[in-house]
Amino acid sequence: MFNKILIANRGEIACRVIKTARRMGIRTVAVYSEADANARHVRLADEAVLLGPAAARESYLVADKIIEACKRTGAQAVHPGYGFLSENAAFADALAASGITFIGPPASAIRAMGSKSEAKKLMGNAAVPLTPGYHGDDQTPKLLHQEADQIGYPVLIKAAAGGGGKGMRLVEQSEDFPDALASCKREAASSFGNEHVLIEKYITRPRHIEIQVFADTLGNCVYLFERDCSVQRRHQKVLEEAPAPGMTLERRRQMGEAAVAAAKAVGYVGAGTVEFIANQDGSFYFMEMNTRLQVEHPVTEMITGQDLVEWQLRVAAGQPLPLSQEQLPIRGHALEARIYAEDASKGFLPSTGQLVRLLPPAESLNVRVDTGVEEGDEITPFYDPMIAKLIVWDETRDGALARMRKALADYRVAGVTTNIDFLSRLVSCPAFAGADLDTGLIERQKDFLFPAAQAVPRDALLVATVGELLWEQHAAKLAAKHSGDPWSPWHARDGWRMNLSAARMIGFRDGDKLVEAQVRYRGDQWSITLNGETTQARGRKLDGDAFAVELDDRRLIASVLAVDDKRSIFLNGSTYSLLRDDPLHLVEAGGAQGGGLTAPMPGKVVALLAEAGQKVDKGTPLLILEAMKMEHTITAPAAGVVKAFCYAAGEQVADGAALVEFEGE
Ligand code: ADP
Ligand code: ADP
Ligand code: MG
Repeated sequence: MFNKILIANRGEIACRVIKTARRMGIRTVAVYSEADANARHVRLADEAVLLGPAAARESYLVADKIIEACKRTGAQAVHPGYGFLSENAAFADALAASGITFIGPPASAIRAMGSKSEAKKLMGNAAVPLTPGYHGDDQTPKLLHQEADQIGYPVLIKAAAGGGGKGMRLVEQSEDFPDALASCKREAASSFGNEHVLIEKYITRPRHIEIQVFADTLGNCVYLFERDCSVQRRHQKVLEEAPAPGMTLERRRQMGEAAVAAAKAVGYVGAGTVEFIANQDGSFYFMEMNTRLQVEHPVTEMITGQDLVEWQLRVAAGQPLPLSQEQLPIRGHALEARIYAEDASKGFLPSTGQLVRLLPPAESLNVRVDTGVEEGDEITPFYDPMIAKLIVWDETRDGALARMRKALADYRVAGVTTNIDFLSRLVSCPAFAGADLDTGLIERQKDFLFPAAQAVPRDALLVATVGELLWEQHAAKLAAKHSGDPWSPWHARDGWRMNLSAARMIGFRDGDKLVEAQVRYRGDQWSITLNGETTQARGRKLDGDAFAVELDDRRLIASVLAVDDKRSIFLNGSTYSLLRDDPLHLVEAGGAQGGGLTAPMPGKVVALLAEAGQKVDKGTPLLILEAMKMEHTITAPAAGVVKAFCYAAGEQVADGAALVEFEGE
């Protein structure tokens, strides 16, 4: 076994690999970019080597720097994680040339599976069932069009070198084919530097079912059953589970054996995944093979009780597979949800910023959290905005669903927008709960999954109001403690006023609506009037930002987290966002009325279109921001003067960052 390995990755997967290596007594070397100098994977590893600037192509993707880091630290093997260099055959070759072990398949197997068309040819020869379609070398548009007509519409055009759902085009009818082909080729050329395409029959209401395979260098190859990854958005996985609902023993054996045949056909070694597309009747076709450990591997670990990273390390060190096919068990049901910093209601727009609060559910035998970040860390625009993977296990699917709902309800994140509420709705939606799965589930259930923005409920507003009052009390106590006269009435926050019947207003903004709570102090309780209705409230601060609240005859436990004027209210498993509308603090205007001068999403400043000091009219373009591969022009909100630009062209900006200092006339 190795004494020391290097992990050529970041985030949760780097942390995941370190955990197993440590348990096995193997020392670990992390690599990092300048943006990740304090990242969790760097803190966990025994040593760490700086690769270069934040951009992956100058750090995590530079094979030479990684090999150099191995030599400097004496690492004997490299675990590539997923993404980055994990499916890069040239990297595997370069490691071999330096005498370093690649913890992954042989370069030849990566190459064989790297092209979807080449892979389909090989699989056809190995008698693995294929999606009907065309995967030939002749790429003349006329021939491709004829092939599509013959397959019958709808068809899917895919980039042969594709991945991550990129380049795929659905074509519903013959006359749309030429345009779709041209656009697929354009995207394929720009994303993968290769415009080779293949055409497949588009399967309606398909399920994505994949098989985990494992092979060693001694000729053994097993399958560790299936994962159902049908719940996708834009062909990207959102929720994964194992085993697949409705799977029969016979079908599992057929799919498992087909996957093993696929692996054997390319001389596979290590962990791999054979992806199939399945019809509702269970018939299935080979789609592609991912020649690496996959994001969703934990669900397989939970139902088999195996550690797949340990298996990878053993196989890479030349040892036999730990278990044979007959020895492999399946127990219970596991679900994984990908927790992302993104705004589901805005087309899953990534969100960046500091994780001011990050409180995952408690881990146990039933709940596992794989993460690369801790409270206080930053989600940057440079990498995938995944915060964590939440994995749950129970004896049955219903049991696992209940665990998932509870764990999502317990998850608390503030500082960035997350998809947690979206995931909660997803696991509660009848179609998912009833295992009525196919890749169109999210689209079909969109009314349930993306409800129109709703007003923050009364209870949350009351809790927020009590939160302000308790916080004032707490601050007043601290101030009194540190002043000469702790009994001065000026420190009291019990509503002491010259005029005893005085009421005060506490205001919040819920979206663009102003909500005002009228508060009267009544001994040790408050009388709060909101929207014409009055509630008697009492509150007591607990640990951290939690407190106990009494609202008339009900008791609740809630938390309110305050960052500047932002308030996140965690109540009964939901998170609500409000802005404190405090007339005393309106001086810092900018964001509120200077509207539009902050970055609407994380991105890069492409060009400044005006000069500092320039007088402009309303609507004058000030700057161009590139985000999510689109350009957004930021214009003057009113006639006025551009005081200064906060960023230069070429700089990255975070979501909500102020871009321009602007003074309206
Ligand atoms: P899969 O689930 O099949 O592993 P994903 O949908 O998770 O694939 O990811 C799509 C592509 O993006 C894959 O090539 C994967 O390796 C890469 N990827 C996903 N998440 C990350 C990440 N956090 N860092 C680097 N690459 C990633
Ligand atoms: P990628 O390399 O981008 O992951 P895949 O070939 O694995 O591409 O397909 C990704 C997803 O696209 C699948 O999980 C499935 O949802 C959908 N898909 C792929 N092929 C078909 C098909 N022939 N019919 C319908 N949907 C498909
Ligand atoms: Mg795929």
